Amino acid sequence: MIRAYKFLMRPTVGQQVALGEILRDHCSLYNGALQERRDAYRHPSKTSVKYGTQSAQVKDIRAFDPERQGRWSFSSQQATLRRLDKAMQAFFRRVKSGDTPGYPRFRGVNWFDTVEFPKDGDGCRWDSTPHDPVTRVRFQGVGHVKVNQHRAVTGKVKTVSVKREGRRWFVVLTAEQDRPEPLPPTGSVVGIDLGIASFLADSHGGFVPNPRHGRTGAAKLETAQRALSRFPRVRRDKRTGNHRRAVEKVTKLHGRVRRQRLDHAHKTALGLVRVHDFIAHEDLKIRNMGKAPAPKPDQAGAFLPNGAAAKAGLNRSIADAGWGVFLTILHAKAESAGREVIAVDPRNTSRECPECGHTAKENRPTQEKFHCLACGHTAHADTVGATNVLRAGLVRRDANPA
Ligand SMILES: [Zn+2]
Repeated sequence: MIRAYKFLMRPTVGQQVALGEILRDHCSLYNGALQERRDAYRHPSKTSVKYGTQSAQVKDIRAFDPERQGRWSFSSQQATLRRLDKAMQAFFRRVKSGDTPGYPRFRGVNWFDTVEFPKDGDGCRWDSTPHDPVTRVRFQGVGHVKVNQHRAVTGKVKTVSVKREGRRWFVVLTAEQDRPEPLPPTGSVVGIDLGIASFLADSHGGFVPNPRHGRTGAAKLETAQRALSRFPRVRRDKRTGNHRRAVEKVTKLHGRVRRQRLDHAHKTALGLVRVHDFIAHEDLKIRNMGKAPAPKPDQAGAFLPNGAAAKAGLNRSIADAGWGVFLTILHAKAESAGREVIAVDPRNTSRECPECGHTAKENRPTQEKFHCLACGHTAHADTVGATNVLRAGLVRRDANPA
């Protein structure tokens, strides 16, 4: 499995000039090779020039023009010729099939924005200064360019490309990922209900508690954020010692909350994916549309002492953030394990009786309790929700078999 990464580069002024020259010279190589093919095509003999012939000329071109073409990587120049070759092949394929495609065009220097290095280590080196905390990528003829690496690169880097977008420069990597072995089928299916009191309830009657320390961590973070908000908005270098410490505290607590949430989400998702072939969950986008944005004064909670309504709002927002992270991880893990995950419309999943199908708001006298008014079935309300989610998921799966 190949995965692509794109990072912003921070070239120095001199490196920006060199990057511009890379594009310019590869562009002129491309256009020169295209000219040669055009001339051959127009010649009465309709000779066609092959990639191999053009690639073999690169050596002479480099020797003839050491100041320009000779500076750059041989392999990136071949990659540019291969790009032209692909365009030509597509053109001839369409001619053959009876279309009248336009002949491949010359590229203006402002329309030539990418140079590819087909192999890391050949004319380029990703992470060329591995012992420095700043990531850099080295290009032959340009030097070590700083990279804003905002996420980790996993797997072995295959190709490295320079890309210009407006006035910004990017490095694009493709990396080969190890595809994990799909897990053996278990024959088990499950529905899950994401909640506040418990992180999730499943249709087998199980519960996963919220992350330990999650609430205290989030409350501490909120306190720290409130403290920080009392400082005036000023430039970084104008901040007082107390202001700087307040910023550091928020950063630290934020990181801790995020790590705990991720850790909990990974463990919970792995637990489900190991055991079940099929997992149904509520579609949070639909669910959130139906929710009031914030507790209103006329809701019962507002009249409780000790700021219970505010606390409920906080718990809700912590939970919201956690669910999104969890579902993203669950989908990714399920895909690599060969499991199926389906999101279902959550409407009525908490009101419908799984035994007799009677649907009424009154079936749920409290947040936790489900008691069917028609048949008397009783269960934990979240287990009922999860059971209904599973059933809706199975209906959807059977309607659109994979
Ligand atoms: Zn019932």
